Amino acid sequence: MIIVLKPATTEEQLNKFTNMLKDSYGVKVNKWDGVQSTVLGLIGDTTRVDIEYIDAQSIVESVKRVQEPYKKANRKFHPDDSKIKVTDSVTIGGGSLHIMAGPCSVESEQQIVQIAKDVKQSGATLLRGGAFKPRTSPYAFQGLKAEGLDLLKTARKETGLPIVTEIMRASHIDMFENVDIIQVGARNMQNFELLKELGKIDKPILLKRGLSATIEEWLMSAEYIMAGGNDKVILCERGIRTYETFTRNTLDVSAIPIIKKLSHLPVVVDPSHAAGKSWLVEPLAMAAVAAGADGLIIEVHNDPPHALSDGAQSLTPKQFDAVAKKVFALKSALDTEV
Ligand code: PEP
Ligand code: MN
Repeated sequence: MIIVLKPATTEEQLNKFTNMLKDSYGVKVNKWDGVQSTVLGLIGDTTRVDIEYIDAQSIVESVKRVQEPYKKANRKFHPDDSKIKVTDSVTIGGGSLHIMAGPCSVESEQQIVQIAKDVKQSGATLLRGGAFKPRTSPYAFQGLKAEGLDLLKTARKETGLPIVTEIMRASHIDMFENVDIIQVGARNMQNFELLKELGKIDKPILLKRGLSATIEEWLMSAEYIMAGGNDKVILCERGIRTYETFTRNTLDVSAIPIIKKLSHLPVVVDPSHAAGKSWLVEPLAMAAVAAGADGLIIEVHNDPPHALSDGAQSLTPKQFDAVAKKVFALKSALDTEV
């Protein structure tokens, strides 16, 4: 349920009203302060809330029930875009464009440090790299695990780039304490126990869309994290399963404006896992930026044919440089008022 308060509402009236809502109905009250108005979002069982009584209060401008099952992730609860601060110089959402780039898997110190330097040079503002890898085959490279996390930190020290890396189980959360953004991979989007634990920490989470998840299911997974108190969720569209087999997945470009309409959370697009082919990364990245993405996450490898995972979709640093140039040029063209 959403309650919009009249602009003249005083702090005292607001506190009294909020306490009444909590005490009488046992709901949680989420407050959003805008320039023009204050919006209260009621979370919990609102079936007993007497809508006519609320509407009759002198400080209430309007009240309506929210049909969607996601509340904290809902734009109706938070009308302006969320801006997720990662470091002093990197904030995702609210109009900027950030590129996270790096290898699918961290393979060695030399590899990750060199790629980090290269992608930074081309304008990437975050370094990606998997240390714990969810692989379809148990016989495939599973990642360097804890050593991979240490190597990412070495690369961060060398370049200053914040690091993004995937977590696979809740018991690893302590190990990820020094990671800047924790990625939840497509395969874990509905690992609700993991999501609940990530809701208890104060760190940005990059939540990838599940392989065949609907937009509503994806937003409900964001809701799991936010319900625990962690509002720092960044959504990542990475392609979904369709009947098309030419590409690894099908990039759902429409998800970008749909998420923007339904939610206030930022959306980052992963053209690499959507495409599965390096030559498709550029057009998909351009489409994502044109459709309003807040960022891109792109796989880059110094030697794609010998990559330990996802070589076919990885760009060389040189190819990445060309893609980044085009993407930033497109972004500034889009930002130029016509
Ligand atoms: C990855 O980022 O390397 C990855 C495994 O992604 P996804 O979860 O989208 O498949
Ligand atoms: Mn990958």
